[in-house]
Amino acid sequence: MKNESNGENPRVKDLLEFNEIKSVFAKRKTQFLFQLPAVLLLIIVIFAGFFGIQNSNKSLATISIWVVWWSLLIISLALLGRAWCFMCPFGAAGDWVQRRTFYKRIGRAFSLNRRWPAKFRNLSLAAIFFLAITWADFQFNLVNSPMNTAYFIFVLLGLVVMVSIIFERRTFCRYVCPITGLIGLYSMFAPFELRAREKETCKTCKEKYCISGNEKGYPCPVFEYPGTMEKNTHCILCTECVKTCHRNNISFNLRPFAGDFLAITKTRMDEGLFVLMLLGVTIFQTLVMIRPWAGFTRDLMIYTGASYDSVRFILFITAAILPVLIYSIAVGISKLFNRKIVFKDLFTAYAYSIIPLGLMMHLSHNIRHLLEEGAGIISVLSDPFGYGWDLFGTSGYMPGPILGSNGILLIQWLLMFIGLGFSVSVGRNISRRMFRGNDSAYIPVLIFIFIFFVFNLWVLGQPIMHKH
Ligand code: SF4
Ligand code: SF4
Repeated sequence: MKNESNGENPRVKDLLEFNEIKSVFAKRKTQFLFQLPAVLLLIIVIFAGFFGIQNSNKSLATISIWVVWWSLLIISLALLGRAWCFMCPFGAAGDWVQRRTFYKRIGRAFSLNRRWPAKFRNLSLAAIFFLAITWADFQFNLVNSPMNTAYFIFVLLGLVVMVSIIFERRTFCRYVCPITGLIGLYSMFAPFELRAREKETCKTCKEKYCISGNEKGYPCPVFEYPGTMEKNTHCILCTECVKTCHRNNISFNLRPFAGDFLAITKTRMDEGLFVLMLLGVTIFQTLVMIRPWAGFTRDLMIYTGASYDSVRFILFITAAILPVLIYSIAVGISKLFNRKIVFKDLFTAYAYSIIPLGLMMHLSHNIRHLLEEGAGIISVLSDPFGYGWDLFGTSGYMPGPILGSNGILLIQWLLMFIGLGFSVSVGRNISRRMFRGNDSAYIPVLIFIFIFFVFNLWVLGQPIMHKH
């Protein structure tokens, strides 16, 4: 059965045209039914970390979070956008405390409802948290420590609940969550989008229930307005606006990959900087796993007389900053040949063209983890605490790589070429739409992208030292 379609864009297919899908999203219970198992699983993971075996190869906490969940999250961002946010147990915990209900629409929130300070309404805090957690991973061996993993989840849960009690709606998800920047920017690549069907309908809509909420649903938890939304970055797919919109004007579209980049008109400096920082951190995470890294850091320690921790910290910060510096030089050269274009416009606009390559770099890093170590979850599920249980008869399973090293490398390189192809195509599209088809403005950025592409191909080809 089909709803009425607006047919505004022939390249997308609105899945809410199907009444069966629409009715699932319109039900208040649907999100809860996805959140509940995720919350229960997280509780088991915390218990496994605190009270279970402290061997990262046999702990549910480390394998489920750092190998399986983290890898599947990056894959899901490329394929489904922010679908994870729909079921995220951290967001659920904040909502449940703030709303004092699991899924009903209630009037008064258990929150001071403070507004988030204007100067932090950007990705700055999320970037700091992201860097801090990535660093904590190195410093406190997070991914190899079930206990520290449990502490980490516990503290994060406490932070979500605290922010929800003090600040309005999902302030945490929008401005604080350490992975909101990564999730938001990568999800722009996904072949799904939630948008207003017709912008004109929103313009003439007086009630704007998507902003204010009504008896059917809450106001948008992340302060979005579907009437002007043009990218996936912030929408957490909670489907509240599907429930509240009385004009049936919300669509959930299947669209071509990288659809956001072909349509955005508003670019942001904080997002551009986050993309570049993420690029550097992603490469660094792979770099520390390759064999030549050990020799390189040892030489640096001898040369500088600094400790391993200091050398690693300086290299980590350098990795986060270096892409910003190199990219600034590339944009500066571009500006030399295009004096009429403002540096900031070039910088922010072309930064989005790096996202497809950055996403594929991240994906290629995690795909190795998943294919080489992911099978470990099979035995761990049968014995989640390492107490000698055999719940599903698989505790004796000896996990091995799902695919050989050469096969994985092939997939990684393939992903890299896909990323490069999309990045170049997005860059050219940005030139066409934002800089009047001036392709020459893009050439220095293209060289920047190519340098990182080649460097990452080299890094991926190096022998790996595994963390688990
Ligand atoms: S309530 Fe519906 S029609 Fe009105 S502004 Fe929001 S999305 Fe648009
Ligand atoms: S735009 Fe709609 S689906 Fe997206 S976060 Fe806001 S209310 Fe939820």
